[in-house]
Amino acid sequence: MDTYRHKGLRQKLVQELGKKGISDQNILQAFIDIPRHYFIDKAFADWAYKDVAFPIDADQTISQPYTVAIQTQLLDVKKGDKILEIGTGSGFQACVLAYLGAKVYSIERQKKLFDSVSEFLPSIGFNQVRLLYGDGYLGAPRFAPFDKIIVTAGATEIPQVLFQQLKIGGIMVLPQGKSEVLDMIRVTKISETEHQKEEFGKFRFVPFVKGVQ
Ligand code: SAH
Repeated sequence: MDTYRHKGLRQKLVQELGKKGISDQNILQAFIDIPRHYFIDKAFADWAYKDVAFPIDADQTISQPYTVAIQTQLLDVKKGDKILEIGTGSGFQACVLAYLGAKVYSIERQKKLFDSVSEFLPSIGFNQVRLLYGDGYLGAPRFAPFDKIIVTAGATEIPQVLFQQLKIGGIMVLPQGKSEVLDMIRVTKISETEHQKEEFGKFRFVPFVKGVQ
């Protein structure tokens, strides 16, 4: 159904992501193939292919393309990976993961966003993403364990419940820190109690908030 509107803008965005260090061709292709302008207000369609975050409903944001790309690259997505996303937001990140062949579960705490994305994703052909309404701090115990977990809101600590829902050898990518500017970290689960932590630069995110709305 996508007519590749803004094709030139999409290619320009992909070039920019490449320059910023995104080397995975499948991820870059996702930014060509997924119509990001459908995920934001129609009046601002041109903004969809700029490398910026943008406001969506419920005072939330669709993450900047570079942020989506780097978090996805750090997750090292393999076809068939079972991935939990915390913070569905616009649904764009979930679609990128599904595009790469992952089996995606995504949780959102804002009912308004959950309802609109539940209608919207199937309408653009992404009906395989499993959307859940709830508090991401609790993870999705019914579907655990996961190969990978991606948190798209800023956490003050590594959420222990989510760590428990990760397979041994699994990876969790999250922005973590105590101020507005957070460290992008990758946590690899070595055993039930041990992890290895790597850092990948500073990013801005909306906060990871407890409870549902
Ligand atoms: N991945 C999104 C980014 C959305 S911004 C995208 O591609 O557009 C982060 C989202 O996390 C917001 O929608 C916010 O409501 C949600 N969020 C924050 N705390 C949460 C929690 N405890 N559980 C689930 N979602 C949460």
